[in-house]
Amino acid sequence: MFADLVDIPIDSLILAHPEVRKNKVGRYVMSFVSQKNIEPVSVTKCVTNGNYYLTDGHHRVVAAYFLGNRHIRAQTLPCTYDVPECNGKCSEGDGAYSIQNIVLVG
Ligand SMILES: [Zn+2]
Repeated sequence: MFADLVDIPIDSLILAHPEVRKNKVGRYVMSFVSQKNIEPVSVTKCVTNGNYYLTDGHHRVVAAYFLGNRHIRAQTLPCTYDVPECNGKCSEGDGAYSIQNIVLVG
């Protein structure tokens, strides 16, 4: 299955963890500014609750947001891709972190 490429509002992403490394975000900021080709991030869209779960690309998302972007291009797969039956499992035990409470660490 090929993932759809979708521009997703960064505010609506549910992040897997609350911390990103400052240096790595800085490198992506420089890459975005110099318009280098940057891999799309990876997102799982829950078929039950419609939420977008960021599975890969936390540093890219923070860098894009820092530069004023409010959307990020993402490879998007339904949550049933790995797990045949979601039944809302996606929303259990997830961190529920968002871009609003992300923390930059050394
Ligand atoms: Zn799901």
